[in-house]
Amino acid sequence: MELFNVYPLNDITPVRALGAQLWDDKGEQYLDFYGGHAVISIGHSHPHYVQRITEQVQKIGFYSNSVHIPIQRELAQKLGEVSGYQDYALFLCNSGAEANENALKLASFHTGKSHVIAFKGAFHGRTSGAVAATDNQKIVAPFNAGHQISFLPYDLADVERVLQAGQTCAVIIEPIQGVGGIIMPSDEFLQGLEQLCRQYGAVLIADEVQSGYGRSGKFFAHQHAGVRPSIISVAKGMGNGFPIGGILISPEFKASYGLLGTTFGGNHLACAAALAVLEVIEQENLLAHAAEMGEYLRTELLANAGAQEVRGRGLMVGIKYDFPIKEMRDKLLTEYHIFVGNASDPGVLRLLPPLNIKREEIDQFLRALYAIIPAEVRS
Ligand code: PMP
Repeated sequence: MELFNVYPLNDITPVRALGAQLWDDKGEQYLDFYGGHAVISIGHSHPHYVQRITEQVQKIGFYSNSVHIPIQRELAQKLGEVSGYQDYALFLCNSGAEANENALKLASFHTGKSHVIAFKGAFHGRTSGAVAATDNQKIVAPFNAGHQISFLPYDLADVERVLQAGQTCAVIIEPIQGVGGIIMPSDEFLQGLEQLCRQYGAVLIADEVQSGYGRSGKFFAHQHAGVRPSIISVAKGMGNGFPIGGILISPEFKASYGLLGTTFGGNHLACAAALAVLEVIEQENLLAHAAEMGEYLRTELLANAGAQEVRGRGLMVGIKYDFPIKEMRDKLLTEYHIFVGNASDPGVLRLLPPLNIKREEIDQFLRALYAIIPAEVRS
């Protein structure tokens, strides 16, 4: 059987990785400044992570959510502590799209409404039709998310106008847009949004799938603005490569049997991976490290990258040029063996290195970048 060919591939076959370093089947070494879209949070094959998963699978790897799985509680407890959301509850699933689907579903159940506000350029996953209007938790009107979501600009007056119609169950926002090109709504905008959601009874959902787990230098990017969304969706960096996602749910939502569900979500192995990530974030003080390294990277880029803008926070960085970056990205990979990302804005180089990236590795990236910046752009 052939693979269904939907991904354009670089001609590289990684066979081994450690920290921010990768090796391919020819023994060539690469620097990973992208982590497979922000998935690699604590570095590839971190020894504590490997140990945790190995020990877990030797005992039990999976059983369904019909029995006690104490490691789920351990994970919820640790996540509450590390994120500052101890009073929230955790629902576990397997990916970012699934986390957002469940967040929207919950908002819809809670309010009895079905319309959703999102923002232009946002990316919340590749599924649709999973949002549902409900009557007594019985799905009565599944709808295609594409028809029921308004994508608005970052304009509080526009948001309020739509909320006034009284149909909206949720406002979902990436505190820092990832795929869109590291676009940040202002702190004031997030604060205004929280206020409007409260006023009109809509559920504020922060999609922290890419920006969460320490990437911005705080555990969640929305914490820079001091807001407290009612639901927070997480995935990517949560498992450092092991598929796991989840939603953090405020105490205003009441759980009931059958309200949400999943087969794989919260299995023993996934929880062991996610716990290892949090333990490493805590033990190695990675939030402060990400903030410090991010600041260093940003200062350097602002001074020397000849960019129109340097966007983002912490280790979620977008370097915006006024020309397409494709050639630079290709050169970084083929000539300098450095993985970086792109965005839907063709002028943005997206950087998402592991949170424990070393200063020398940042310097290695900077040297390569400076060497390939087109001469007419160099400052
Ligand atoms: N939300 C955001 C902000 C994302 O960046 C992504 C993935 N790029 C998703 C949701 C979807 O996550 P997944 O691919 O795990 O379904």
